[in-house]
Amino acid sequence: MKRAYDLVVIGGGSAGYNAARVAAGLGRRVAVIDGARQLGGLCILRGCMPSKTLIYSAQVLHLARNGADLGLRITGAAADMRAMHARKRRIVSAFADHRVRQLESGDFDLIRSRARFVDPHAVELGDGRRIRAAHFLVSTGSRVSVPPVPGLAASPFWTSDDVLELDFKPRSVVVLGGGIVACELAQFLSRIGTRVCMIQRGPHLLREYSEEAAGVVRQAFADEGIEVVTGTQVMAIAAQPNGVSVAFRHRGRTLRRRADHLFNALGREPDTSGLSLQAAGVRTAPNGRILTNRWQQTSAPHIYAAGDCCGPREIVHIAVQQGELAARHAAGVKGLKPLDDSMLLSVIFTDPQLGRIGWRESDLLERRVGFAAASYPFSDHGKSILMEASYGYVKVIAELGSGRILGAEMVGNDAGELIHCFSTPLAMRATVHDMLRAPWYHPTLSEIVTYPLEELAETTRMPVAGGR
Ligand SMILES: Cc1cc2nc3c(=O)[nH]c(=O)nc-3n(C[C@H](O)[C@H](O)[C@H](O)COP(=O)(O)OP(=O)(O)OC[C@H]3O[C@@H](n4cnc5c(N)ncnc54)[C@H](O)[C@@H]3O)c2cc1C
Repeated sequence: MKRAYDLVVIGGGSAGYNAARVAAGLGRRVAVIDGARQLGGLCILRGCMPSKTLIYSAQVLHLARNGADLGLRITGAAADMRAMHARKRRIVSAFADHRVRQLESGDFDLIRSRARFVDPHAVELGDGRRIRAAHFLVSTGSRVSVPPVPGLAASPFWTSDDVLELDFKPRSVVVLGGGIVACELAQFLSRIGTRVCMIQRGPHLLREYSEEAAGVVRQAFADEGIEVVTGTQVMAIAAQPNGVSVAFRHRGRTLRRRADHLFNALGREPDTSGLSLQAAGVRTAPNGRILTNRWQQTSAPHIYAAGDCCGPREIVHIAVQQGELAARHAAGVKGLKPLDDSMLLSVIFTDPQLGRIGWRESDLLERRVGFAAASYPFSDHGKSILMEASYGYVKVIAELGSGRILGAEMVGNDAGELIHCFSTPLAMRATVHDMLRAPWYHPTLSEIVTYPLEELAETTRMPVAGGR
């Protein structure tokens, strides 16, 4: 059979669409196969965009309700859930329509079907047709996982999809989990007026961040009335006539919380089980995650994977970078560079927000890199004081001797924007001294970074072993 395509992309979300766009731009004959009823991918339809739309509404509501802190008398501020839901739908539809236009641009073929491998060079569509290609990219994303927690599978529970579709205000919700989606949506629910209890197995929320950073978010949640219980083991979940009850062990005692609804925010898993990957010789980890090398090649070198189906992180800009890298590598582009772990950027849209980039202190201690860290609290910073936004801090990490920026971590108002102060310096391997040569306007939130930078300009000169 003739090889019809240079590249067939299975899954037209963030990773898949961008891979197809790049490959077509390089003159390759490309097809994208997507089996979704609605095109757009997770980020646009049920991930980043709807969640951030709703979270922003809830943030404005929170500010209005606390207007007295700013000398304002604002009465009657409340969530109009139907209007909020309609606004979100409008925004998401516009983004999805744009993505559909991109997918239907004609630069590559778009095939609306599910696909599975029948051999290393062919996939079968839902109608039995077979498509052959020299290269494939698997970018089928992820789905909500239901871990073996006693009683969970048998109980009615919401996923993030359900929370993002709410057009009414739930009275009470128990949130299982303490990761990014759990924290962002727990605070959203609380701010629209729902009583929220979060139950988390690990010792602190948001384990990708330091305990110090997570502690600030936990304090803010407590101040807003969100109950957070960490270090738990769920013993039983049971459906009740008007809701659900969760029994769990905590500090040697059995506790119980009941609520109208249960939100399973325990995480996602790669959506790869329907692909017959074994027929193509593609190896996966036990949880279905496709194993890839630094060029996104799988164990079958002409088959690539990108995005949530291979991870290791569920972050859109990384899915895009992985897809683009795979497309270029498959096209034989020379001089490529693999993705750089030392540039990892992550943002969490709680309030206060979290942002981190580069290496964490714990990574550097493990790698025995000599570093110094300096931090500065928002509670002592002019702009944040006048904004009544005093939670959190900015921490900067730099290499001893050279003063090269190695990483930064922030918790605070707009930390998700402010962390980008470090994107370019990190990419350009700049030092604290380079950053201090730049102008910083007063009074801005951004200028807070000059305090830790000034401290580091002194301390990185000192030959201290193993950080401080
Ligand atoms: C609530 C929530 C909030 C989030 N917020 C953020 C955020 O703020 N920032 C951020 O960076 N990330 C965020 N994420 C994560 C982000 O959405 C994902 O990392 C990203 O969308 C993954 O893109 P992808 O291309 O790997 O997969 P997807 O976009 O899921 O695309 C996969 C596509 O594959 C198709 N498909 C699956 N199986 C088959 C098959 N067998 N045949 C054909 N087609 C198939 C699907 O129909 C789908 O269109 C969030 C996630 C959630 C759930």
